[in-house]
Amino acid sequence: MIHVDARRFDEAMGGHVVHAESPQGRFTTGAAALDGRTLRSTEAFGKNLFLRFSGDAPQYLHVHLGLIGGWTWWDHDHQQLSGRPVVKADDSNVRLRLRSGRGDAARSAELRGAITCTLVDEEGLDKAVAKLGPDPLRDDADPDVAWAKVRKSRKPIGGLLLDQAVTAGAGLIWRAEVPFLAGVDPHRPGVDVTEDEFSTMWSEMRRVMKDAVERGGKEITTDPADRPGTDGHVSRDDAFYVFRREGEPCLRCGTAVEVAEMGNRKVWWCPSCQPR
Ligand SMILES: [Zn+2]
Repeated sequence: MIHVDARRFDEAMGGHVVHAESPQGRFTTGAAALDGRTLRSTEAFGKNLFLRFSGDAPQYLHVHLGLIGGWTWWDHDHQQLSGRPVVKADDSNVRLRLRSGRGDAARSAELRGAITCTLVDEEGLDKAVAKLGPDPLRDDADPDVAWAKVRKSRKPIGGLLLDQAVTAGAGLIWRAEVPFLAGVDPHRPGVDVTEDEFSTMWSEMRRVMKDAVERGGKEITTDPADRPGTDGHVSRDDAFYVFRREGEPCLRCGTAVEVAEMGNRKVWWCPSCQPR
């Protein structure tokens, strides 16, 4: 989750001078422009991360990870702190490495596989953000902007939630789990979703996404009461109501969870709990 990355940057590098390099060579000029500047602040809008540095424009590093990109964090001793396990220390696919701090406080973050890694000025940031719908994780988000698009659309709500121009930041888990939490079939066209249902979806999306950020990115949507036999530890199997649970009994009613293709990606739902 990008908001988790943003928080990590804030905690580890905020206010510090940052050293930048591009071992892969695809961001050499950008890295050279950032090298030695101070990280002033971080902002996340949906799946877009903006790191604001000291100095002249362009002062923002804009990163969008896409489906396969990711940040890997290391401590001073080159122990991996987070990110997908990197088995072999291989520089050849590191687009950007940012380092800051001294001694035990030294940290480095490596970016691999991102679809966007570029420097932008204030105008560039505004342009990127203008394309996005409201982000439920941001306190300044206006859900009415999303509702205005949903209520006029004949597209299925499960697709609309994934559309970054409608709600920014929602991924495959949320487009399945949020309609479940609101009791709405993800195939239902936006025009047939009531304002109350949308408002439930928005607040549930905000709640479950915020919880995930608090847990450092671990996504869980199930209530403890719906997770029989687990005390404390929540496994992937009982973290979700419908996501990747096709054929399994619904945790609320026992009906087999269904799966279908929607916009070339999958969606899951309980046909009993989520009326069309
Ligand atoms: Zn059910």
